[in-house]
Amino acid sequence: KKSKVDLSRSGILAPPGSNPDRDVIFVLGGPGSGKGTQCSRLVADFPGVVHLSAGDLLRAHTKSGTPDGDAVAGMISQGQIVPSSVTIRLLEAAMAQAASETAKKAGGEAAERSGREASSKHRFLVDGFPRNDENRAAYEALTGSDPALVLFFDCPEAVMRRRLLGRGQGRTDDNDETIAKRFRVFVESSVPVVEYYEKKGKVAKIDADRDPEKVYADVKRVFASRTGAAAKQ
Ligand code: UDP
Ligand code: MG
Repeated sequence: KKSKVDLSRSGILAPPGSNPDRDVIFVLGGPGSGKGTQCSRLVADFPGVVHLSAGDLLRAHTKSGTPDGDAVAGMISQGQIVPSSVTIRLLEAAMAQAASETAKKAGGEAAERSGREASSKHRFLVDGFPRNDENRAAYEALTGSDPALVLFFDCPEAVMRRRLLGRGQGRTDDNDETIAKRFRVFVESSVPVVEYYEKKGKVAKIDADRDPEKVYADVKRVFASRTGAAAKQ
């Protein structure tokens, strides 16, 4: 099934190798496994790394006042997975915006000191997507490719539940009832996506049941070695 959104035009989601200026890294793990926290740390340490939280983009979309936004709000509060047609459109727009911001910045720098080439490889951390086989297949159909890497945060449910109830972000889905649904959806729909990429040798599994600092030591090392990214000095 072909999407109505033509992503081929921007080239942002082109297959690896065809666009040496960008890589996509999927960041997966159960609700509360620490995906967002660890992504922020990678952004701080590695130039060119951009964090795109699918959940954050969808939550922003719920404030659009559109029927589409209202439908997404309902799905999130029930712990359901939003169709890829919506999520991919938001991700693609966010990628294009990040790329254009970098281009602007590089243009400014080049004007100041001409002759020095700006290093502008983007590494997009796509946090919380794809969440089911439909999401995954849609990404694959559009890009004809796999991500460069899948970081998978492995964490016991009891630990994730404690973190979700303790984080107090006022999210409509951080209540006992929806948390139980999200865990069920994760096991039934999202774990198969991780298994799919595991068979393809794409997954780096991280023990996420530790202090954020300890988890990050592993994340930083694995990210650098598997993507070839160099940390800031
Ligand atoms: N969600 C979705 N598709 C995505 C990402 C998020 O449908 O690609 C929805 C889904 O309802 C999920 C919610 O947004 O339960 C929150 O996702 P997020 O990744 O922010 O939180 P997590 O459950 O990982 O803590
Ligand atoms: Mg998150």
